[in-house]
Amino acid sequence: MNYLPIFIDIKQKPCLVIGGGDIALRKINLLLKADAAVTCVSTECCDGIKKLVKNNKIIHIEKAFEATDINTQMLIISATDDSTLNAQVSVLAKAANIPVNVVDSPELCSFVMPSIVDRSPIVIAISSAGKAPVLARLIRAKLESTIPHAYGKLAELAGNFRDQVKAKFNNIEDRRYFWEKTFSGIVAEKVFSGKVDEAKADLQAQLDGSTDSGVGEVYLVGGGPGDPDLLTFKALRLMQQADVILYDRLVSDGVMELVRRDAELIYVGKERDNHAVPQGDINQLLVDLAKQGRRVCRLKGGDPFIFGRGGEEIETLAENGVPFQVVPGITAASGCSTYSGIPLTHRDYSQSCRFVTGHLKDGSMNLPWDELAVEQQTIVFYMALVGARHLSEQLIAHGMRGDMPVALVEKGTTPDHQVYVTTLAGLPDLVENTTIHAPTLIIVGEVVKLREKLNWFDVGSD
Ligand code: SAH
Repeated sequence: MNYLPIFIDIKQKPCLVIGGGDIALRKINLLLKADAAVTCVSTECCDGIKKLVKNNKIIHIEKAFEATDINTQMLIISATDDSTLNAQVSVLAKAANIPVNVVDSPELCSFVMPSIVDRSPIVIAISSAGKAPVLARLIRAKLESTIPHAYGKLAELAGNFRDQVKAKFNNIEDRRYFWEKTFSGIVAEKVFSGKVDEAKADLQAQLDGSTDSGVGEVYLVGGGPGDPDLLTFKALRLMQQADVILYDRLVSDGVMELVRRDAELIYVGKERDNHAVPQGDINQLLVDLAKQGRRVCRLKGGDPFIFGRGGEEIETLAENGVPFQVVPGITAASGCSTYSGIPLTHRDYSQSCRFVTGHLKDGSMNLPWDELAVEQQTIVFYMALVGARHLSEQLIAHGMRGDMPVALVEKGTTPDHQVYVTTLAGLPDLVENTTIHAPTLIIVGEVVKLREKLNWFDVGSD
């Protein structure tokens, strides 16, 4: 280790910043976050520093740096572009044994400033010992994206219960087990979803022994259209902590790769007219698994509330008193159109967009064709491959032009993403004479023309 990572308490302690530019301002703001008493010395200063002075946040001394300025300081940062001055500050501070940092000059520093992930009271500091600060920043970005913002609140909550937990469990092993369960269980999830008071009450009830905490939880998670990079952070977190995953045909292999390795996987597949597990049984299975105390992730393609029957599944959970959370996902219309270079709305071509299903409950396609067959509108048909001829005929019969552009997107956003562009009149022939694999989405509207210019996703071709 080149440096010892430590966290120093600088609350109300004198800290000196030399320099008055934007970089000095950034360092001052950081010191202020840790509640330091900051003095800034510089001949000139930027507006940001002036504002801090005006708001009585720091003291600014308008003058050139002098050796005596370092007296009584606890920590010094030199942020000037004068290398002679920076070197002088470094020598003086080191001689006086005051920790000093000179921006962008690791050889002059006695301490380096890390990249920080701030989930106070949890703080993660990353340092490359001044060798590769950009790499440290990239690592920071990775951590930022995987550590939920509410970890701070969770740590805060744990802090408030620390003494009670210590009193209840004499044994350190028992304490550790309790905290591990808390940090990866329902209490943590409640904190993450903003229900801190409920989380507190649950934790208290567990410590009082007044809950059986026997019921698990169900996460109804939108897995997006296929590309795993389109998952939300929340979806990924819940997929990785669930004990059981119920998934169906629409969830892509790439997304399934990311579920917890040792989770039990239950396929409840769904194909048109061939439901591997009937919907009612899926609803009941979710209830039964949760009642066994398990954390169940019901993973669905796209968004669970868009033609996903997610509403029915959580209705049964609600009726049975099973706690649940719903995580939205990128719906097929959004993913497929974007990855095909087709904006769903555009000032010149379309001011509204409708998502409709081409497969109704009773098997028919009884849609409000008059409302659909209008100009300046995009229509996205889900589950419409079988009904393609019918929808083409109906739209034309209700006044839509036969040369209206249409795109058919097959396995959108996946490595097999394929787009077929045709016209409304040409759609039936295309579908009947081409081998097209589900899932597919049909986009009807002038916006389809924009694909010629805006296509950016290279996999697949027309
Ligand atoms: N809840 C899902 C939709 C479920 S309905 C969502 O929000 O996306 C199933 C239909 O979605 C399929 O018949 C197809 O029309 C569409 N679909 C889902 N994923 C798709 C994909 N990757 N490519 C093309 N169409 C897709």
